[in-house]
Amino acid sequence: MTIKAVLFDMGNTLVNFGDFGSPEEVFQRVLISLGISRSLDDMKKAFLNAEKEAEGINLLSSMGKIKCEEFWHQWDSLVLKHLRIAEDEELARMVQSKWSDFVDSTLYPEVKEVLLELKRRRLKIGLISNAYEEEIHLALEKVDLEKTTFDITVGVDTTKKVKPNPDVFKYALKKLDVKAEEAIFVGDNVEVDYKGAENAGLHALLVDRTEKQKQSDLRTIKNLKEILSQTN
Ligand SMILES: [Mg+2]
Repeated sequence: MTIKAVLFDMGNTLVNFGDFGSPEEVFQRVLISLGISRSLDDMKKAFLNAEKEAEGINLLSSMGKIKCEEFWHQWDSLVLKHLRIAEDEELARMVQSKWSDFVDSTLYPEVKEVLLELKRRRLKIGLISNAYEEEIHLALEKVDLEKTTFDITVGVDTTKKVKPNPDVFKYALKKLDVKAEEAIFVGDNVEVDYKGAENAGLHALLVDRTEKQKQSDLRTIKNLKEILSQTN
C-alpha cells in the first residue's frame, strides 16, 4: 500500500520541550520565582497526588472539553493543594501566567528538511497532539514553524478526545481523505502515540532519539529523516 500521509505528534517528536526539564521541574522553577521553595521530591509527590485526585474528580477526562485556561488553572490549583500551599486563587493564576517564561522549546534540527521533502513528494502532513489548539499554535509560533505547513492540526479540543483514543486518529484521516493503512504516525510515547495509532490501523513509528526504548518489537527510528526511506 502506498503511503499518502505522514502524521506527527508535536511534543518531543517535532518540538523539543524535554531539555528544559519535566513539568515538575518547571513548576518548581516558577514557584521559586514567586518566592516559594520546594524540593523536586516534594514536587514529584505533589504531582502524583494531584494526578490521583484529578482522576477522581474527572479533571483529566475533562481535558479538551473545558477551556484550556480553566483546565490548567484547576490542575495548578490541585498541585498547589498537594504541596500544602494555602488555597490561593491568585497564586494559581500566577503560576499559569508565568509558565511559558520557564519552559522553552526548540525544533529538532531535521524537522524542516523532512517536512519539506514530504511536501515535495506530495504527501499530506498532519499534527495530532494532546495539547489544546491554542497551545499548539503558540508552540509552533515559538519554534518558527508555520501552522500552514500542516494539512491538518488536531488538538484535544478539536475532537474533545485525547490520544490514544483511536477516534482522534480516525478524525484526522477522514479530514485528509486518507485510509488508515495509507498513513504513518510518528510519536515519542509508546502508549499514547504508537499503540494509539496502531489500534486505529495506521503504520506507527516510535521516535526514540536516545535509544532508551528496550522493546524490540516496536518499529523505532532515531531520527525523523528515517521516515523518508519508508515513503519512497
Ligand atoms: Mg510527545
